[in-house]
Amino acid sequence: MPVHNSDISEVFNRTADYLDIKGENPFRIRAYRNAARIIGSLSRSVADMVAHEEDLTKIQGIGQDLAGKIKEIVKTGTLPLLEQLKRELSPELSALMEIPGLGPKRVKVLYDEMGIRSVDELRQAAEEGKVRTLPGFGAKTESVILEEIGKIKETKKGGLRLKLAVAEQVVEPLVGYLKKIAGVKEIDVAGSYRRRRETVGDLDILVACGQSCPVMDKFVGYEDVEKTLSRGKTRSSVVFRNGIQVDLRVVPEASYGAALLYFTGSKAHNIAIRKIAQKKKLKINEYGVFRGEKRIAGRTEKDVYKQVGLPWIEPELREDRGEVEAAQEKRLPRLVRLEDIRGDLHVHTTWSDGRSSLEDMAEAAKRLGYEYLAVSDHSKHVTVAHGLDEKRLSQQIKEIDRLNGKLKGLRLLKSIELDILESGSLDLPDRVLEDLDLVICSVHSKFNLSREKQTERIIRAMDNPHVHIFCHPTGRLINERRPYEVDLERVMNAAKERGCHLELNAHPDRLDLDDVECKRAKEIGLKVAIATDAHSLDDLRFMRFGVGQARRGWLEPEDVLNTKSWEELEGFLKRY
Ligand SMILES: [Zn+2]
Ligand SMILES: [Zn+2]
Repeated sequence: MPVHNSDISEVFNRTADYLDIKGENPFRIRAYRNAARIIGSLSRSVADMVAHEEDLTKIQGIGQDLAGKIKEIVKTGTLPLLEQLKRELSPELSALMEIPGLGPKRVKVLYDEMGIRSVDELRQAAEEGKVRTLPGFGAKTESVILEEIGKIKETKKGGLRLKLAVAEQVVEPLVGYLKKIAGVKEIDVAGSYRRRRETVGDLDILVACGQSCPVMDKFVGYEDVEKTLSRGKTRSSVVFRNGIQVDLRVVPEASYGAALLYFTGSKAHNIAIRKIAQKKKLKINEYGVFRGEKRIAGRTEKDVYKQVGLPWIEPELREDRGEVEAAQEKRLPRLVRLEDIRGDLHVHTTWSDGRSSLEDMAEAAKRLGYEYLAVSDHSKHVTVAHGLDEKRLSQQIKEIDRLNGKLKGLRLLKSIELDILESGSLDLPDRVLEDLDLVICSVHSKFNLSREKQTERIIRAMDNPHVHIFCHPTGRLINERRPYEVDLERVMNAAKERGCHLELNAHPDRLDLDDVECKRAKEIGLKVAIATDAHSLDDLRFMRFGVGQARRGWLEPEDVLNTKSWEELEGFLKRY
């Protein structure tokens, strides 16, 4: 069974969690967490590298010791150390740590003081009012814990939804494999994957192929398949090792476009289209568009839309959020594309918590064809990330000047990701900000302020005339941390008044703003910066996820700051 990068990351993270609870050496714990992050963000399959006997120490940040452990995980799916820790403590502790507000430190207290080893035991103790008596807890924390346990149950009901990036790691190799099979003429991944939703449930793959094409046999025989749920001539369902269900459908070429439209969804979009068809006395389904018994379209999506009187609609828009009306009125947006992006406005380097050097990041940005790259390391308040103080920032500025003198075709922008303090003030003085091309700011702590206070805090930060962009505006981490309480509408309006801009953070764990918020930003008249928050060379490629989300948010090139040349962009960065 092949092991995915995300599996390896998870083993490292779990190990770090358990070591943390055991109270082990923090450096050892951090080494495991770093390894998890490095492997999790690689674009190449590590299992594949192991299979080809490649040297894993060539991966940035991976030494001999970690390389050996990675090989062990690829071979066995786990680490002997982790298995031993689970036996020693409890296999259920990691579920406890996933409860928001309960890190390893608090779980350690629960474990040490009350012997709590599972979510059920915790709920019981909290219901009995015992948790509030523990050091560092209290009645408020206890009730928050109960509330969060309730929420876990709710979200679990919806079933497993994978982050888009994780789904991509499964889908891309699978599609590559299926494409090579003789007889396969067309192949598409439909569903929310094609609509670039931030998470996906089941995956639907459509194939058109000649008779006697062995695509079904090859599909159920694919190495990543753990279980075959059903196997037929036109449809098979399997479950992959990471729990995702994949359906493959073989459809006739004459129906391919109709099937693609149907299985791409969303359901709401399909219903809207069907209503229009009915008004025209047409029937529409996954086989085609019919007038009476006669099929009048079905070969391509474009043909199908045309018969109901519409232009082709981009999959990312198909949510029944006004796209059908816009199509009827010929005012569909011309969505931003990856090729439109001319630079990245938020990246980190080894000057703070990035894993790649300034020079390497610059070279990588050049290879992506970018015209500019903003070097926005953390500021001093974020001590865990070795944030820059005034002195180191001015050293970095000198280094950027030096590199700009020799880099051809790429301009490094002097920037910083300022930390917004609880009061809304920023953690570097104005006089240093004056020397920068771009100032971005974010909330990295105190996520639990009241809605009013959080909103005020952010608006106060934007009051500073040196600030240009407010980053990852809701602080959410998909499937992990809900957005903090904030009046985003007020923040957006305040940004507009001040000539500030908002970021759409393209990191697949964040995608913050979300699609609906992007659309709202556009309506308010804001420009959005799609930026990766890259901490390594590979992360620069996260741009595609940000562009996908921006497209779902109806953004056109003119709505996006980093589709502009540096000269134009400089104009947009002038505050009112
Ligand atoms: Zn940040
Ligand atoms: Zn950042």
